[in-house]
Amino acid sequence: MKHSGLRKPLVLSALCAAMFFPALSAWAVTDQEILDDVNSTNQIVTNGMGLQGQRYSTLDILNTDNIKDLRPVWAMSFGGEKQRGQQAQPLIKDGVMYVTASYSRVFAVDARTGKELWQYDARLPDDIRPCCDVINRGVALYGDLVIFGTLDAKLVALNKDTGKVVWRKSVADHKAGYSITAAPLVVNGKLITGVSGGEFGVVGKIEAYDPKNGELLWTRPTVEGHMGYVYKDGKAVESGISGGEAGKTWPGDLWKTGGAAPWLGGLYDPETNLLLFGTGNPAPWNSHLRPGDNLYSSSRLALNPDDGTIKWHFQTTPHDGWDFDGVNELVSFNYQEGGKTIKAAATADRNGFFYVLDRTNGKFIRGFPFVDKITWAKGLDKNGRPIYDETNRPGSPGSETKGSSVFAAPAFLGAKNWMPMAYSQDTGLFYVPSNEWGMDIWNEEIAYKKGAAYLGAGFTIRPLNEDYIGVLRAIDPKTGKEVWRQKNFAPLWGGVMTTKGNLVFTGTPEGFLKAFNAKTGEQVWEFQTGSGVLGSPVTWEMDGEQYVSVLSGWGGAVPLWGGEVAKRVKDFNQGGMLWTFKLPKDLVAKR
Ligand code: CA
Repeated sequence: MKHSGLRKPLVLSALCAAMFFPALSAWAVTDQEILDDVNSTNQIVTNGMGLQGQRYSTLDILNTDNIKDLRPVWAMSFGGEKQRGQQAQPLIKDGVMYVTASYSRVFAVDARTGKELWQYDARLPDDIRPCCDVINRGVALYGDLVIFGTLDAKLVALNKDTGKVVWRKSVADHKAGYSITAAPLVVNGKLITGVSGGEFGVVGKIEAYDPKNGELLWTRPTVEGHMGYVYKDGKAVESGISGGEAGKTWPGDLWKTGGAAPWLGGLYDPETNLLLFGTGNPAPWNSHLRPGDNLYSSSRLALNPDDGTIKWHFQTTPHDGWDFDGVNELVSFNYQEGGKTIKAAATADRNGFFYVLDRTNGKFIRGFPFVDKITWAKGLDKNGRPIYDETNRPGSPGSETKGSSVFAAPAFLGAKNWMPMAYSQDTGLFYVPSNEWGMDIWNEEIAYKKGAAYLGAGFTIRPLNEDYIGVLRAIDPKTGKEVWRQKNFAPLWGGVMTTKGNLVFTGTPEGFLKAFNAKTGEQVWEFQTGSGVLGSPVTWEMDGEQYVSVLSGWGGAVPLWGGEVAKRVKDFNQGGMLWTFKLPKDLVAKR
């Protein structure tokens, strides 16, 4: 009777509650369903279409032969004056879709008709501090609850039928620059979240809560020197779990405001029982103020989901001086080599390198560039550590107000940013949404002030090519070979999905949802959604038919931070629509 505490009993009697339980528990999302999401095709109860984050579906009702007939069945507007930056992935359970929109809103929608069932608008204070638009990346489902994080750094759990608040919990102080934009995840009965705020000198942290009532279970700060704690009944029962030695990779006091925010949330690998999270830039951006590697900034971390202990770490950009946040998703996958199964994980970093790690221990297997131009490093050494070109690190301001400027590539918005890649179990390829751009970057003096931007740097992002910035790439993780590429004029900022139907889906800021042949890269379908597509597409089976859904709504970091690139895309219209597609029934019957 694990979830009986989650609902309001109709009658205040244990007996009656027990009698009602079987009917109600039919919906209740269980730990097992979450673990099975990678294989189930009739529902999507995790971000990443499986905790491993492969974004691969075994459905092939829709395939390269019939996709030309894929068409919309319904579309729904998020309404209001708040039309911008829609970056969520929908979840689907029992014919209902749960999705977030900009400004910390949640919608429940009939997945067959597009009819809105309920809407929840978080009442946000005026002084929220989102660095990169008022976006949100989705909900978690557990028991009878729909749970998400808000721009004022709270977790909110809603009743799945009514959208009414069941519990609400503050994760961190939004006045200090904290916010939450990532979808939380549920692992072994624990609700896990990260925080945003690296541009404000917060201390990054990953935390676990009891999904039934929002009680804190453990906290793991992600800046070396800060201690982790495990809680029971609101009290720390295991205190001072070390996260490394204070002062070791952070000489001086800057670790106290060291950033490393795990703002994109995380994934989970059931085979190794590890949470896999990434961490953002060390704060401030001006690297001359904080000598050392600055652990665990710009890193991937593997955590024990029971207590938040760090089992291993891999730092992609030690002593980051370019805002190369290491948050990008670390996707678990297995491959065969020399007669052995390699338990690997792959990530396409902001810094331009694609990494394949041994996910049992975090050891570097191989790495290679996945964009055409990298200026800040000459390559990776045998352990995967970058070989710096020190002439491409922006200079110290010294006694001046501004240090020497360099032109560095990739730009800080990344060879790849937050938008998730996909891995096909059929082709063995990763489909990576990447961007070709660089930046002028220089350092400035800065002092920490609570709640104020804490960069100590200035910058202008510039395109590298006249005719395109975005490049969707098919990459072989065993060889580093690029199998195909598809260019796009605007920077790609939406998630990718791949299917057994030999299809790869992704959206463009120009408003198209597109599909490609997974083997050849040939474009096989597109649909104009009316605004830029920044969401992550999903597919599922309902009533024997295969559906595809995606959010449309331009916004996000590019128009706010993009410099010369922002000028290129200034005429793109904002939006807020949820689109759903399928094949006409008679055409499917004929196949
Ligand atoms: Ca950052």
